[in-house]
Amino acid sequence: MASKKKGPVEKIALQCTECKRRNYTTSKNRRNIQEKLEFMKYCKFDQKHTLHRETKIK
Ligand SMILES: [Zn+2]
Repeated sequence: MASKKKGPVEKIALQCTECKRRNYTTSKNRRNIQEKLEFMKYCKFDQKHTLHRETKIK
């Protein structure tokens, strides 16, 4: 058994695929969600809804 304290919940940023800005942060449970998250979200820089894709937070 691994005894690491690191939980399955990972903090992620949602990056606009048009202007590449990180507009949102959220978290996901890696145990339940394997694939990259993608959401249609409002980007205030593009002033419209754009596709936002998961990126890692360092
Ligand atoms: Zn944008």
